[in-house]
Amino acid sequence: MHATTTMENEDIKPLFSLIEKHNLCDKCLGRMFHNLKPMITEEEKGKCIRNFLSMFFNVKLGEVDERNCEICKGVFLNLEGIMEEVKKKISEYEAETFEVGTTFPPDVIKREEEIIARENLIHAESIKSNFNNKLSEMIKKEIGLAVDHESPHLLINVNAYAQKVSVKASPLFIYGRYRKLLRGIPQATWTCKKCSGKGCPACNGTGKIYKESVQDLISHVLLEEAKAKKSKFHGAGREDIDARMLGRGRPFVIELINPKKRKINLEELEKEINKRNKGKIEIIGLTFTNRDKKREVKVLSEKAIKKYRALIEIKPKVDEGDVQKLDKLENLEIMQRTPTRVLSRRKDKVRRKRVYEVKAKTINDRRMELTITCDGGLYVKELINGDSGRTTPSISEILNKKAECTELDVIDIMEAP
Ligand SMILES: [Zn+2]
Ligand SMILES: [Zn+2]
Repeated sequence: MHATTTMENEDIKPLFSLIEKHNLCDKCLGRMFHNLKPMITEEEKGKCIRNFLSMFFNVKLGEVDERNCEICKGVFLNLEGIMEEVKKKISEYEAETFEVGTTFPPDVIKREEEIIARENLIHAESIKSNFNNKLSEMIKKEIGLAVDHESPHLLINVNAYAQKVSVKASPLFIYGRYRKLLRGIPQATWTCKKCSGKGCPACNGTGKIYKESVQDLISHVLLEEAKAKKSKFHGAGREDIDARMLGRGRPFVIELINPKKRKINLEELEKEINKRNKGKIEIIGLTFTNRDKKREVKVLSEKAIKKYRALIEIKPKVDEGDVQKLDKLENLEIMQRTPTRVLSRRKDKVRRKRVYEVKAKTINDRRMELTITCDGGLYVKELINGDSGRTTPSISEILNKKAECTELDVIDIMEAP
């Protein structure tokens, strides 16, 4: 190639170099100057550059077939096919917004980056972002969805060369409070460890250790309605399986994974859940929320003050004056080492938690009923029995008798002042 006019200067040199050294199709050539005006398509830009150089510098610059292009190898020819696939996959979802993510082989990205760096092409746009934008534009125009990078309803993942499309809906987050009216129900689903949920003789084919959980009972109706298969449950702490959750209920966020439907009537579903689970659980105030609420609910559980009702058994027997002895617990700090019964799941450490108030009532010479107000995270069963001295002071210690919790209910969860 030989330049014959004086027009050659520092601006045009890289163009020659680029075309001389590399086999680029018009789309890729134009894309190297993406951010330069005029804002025409990459292909038009590439053609202009080629024509301009042939006209003024009297050189022959043959067109390059996309399929032989050094960078793209014709990947943009896949767009139509990919678009058809997107339409098919999207059709089963209810959505208004989307975001596209494209996977490109690393060697394509590297090849392009090397050329951009070597030729100092400061106006270039990467093939990946260009492909993404093109596909996004097509989806906007042909399907009528809007792009949303913050919280898109749909995540459309595309493998540009393999022409594979996968569509996933972002989760629905629903906030509410639950009351557990029956003992023996865990909060979250306990998957059978032996079969990892597939179902085996040990779990009677259910895949679960407990037949039902608060999560199951709530999610069943929601999953059905949102046409989703899986849920995640985030409670503001949890009560023991054998404890009830009464009062105003415990805040939770339920996450419905990959929902096909998003417009669901929570007011109606709340009624339906409560109707189906009469006497077991009750839910209050279902509303849509966002991902951040998950953390909020967790923080609340750490900072909350909780009120319990406990039925305790005293050995050898309740004596006159025992009720008064428990006044000592008022506004008292408790040192609690991780209870023996949860040591396999929790780190062994000492917690300092406060008891604010204990109201005691004698029921008979063996039993007392207590109302305990204390910091969230204090293990109440151990506050009562002392856990062989790991919790101190404890009710056993104060009474100098054996005290054991036989029934426990959470009756309120309050935000700390
Ligand atoms: Zn190309
Ligand atoms: Zn099993």
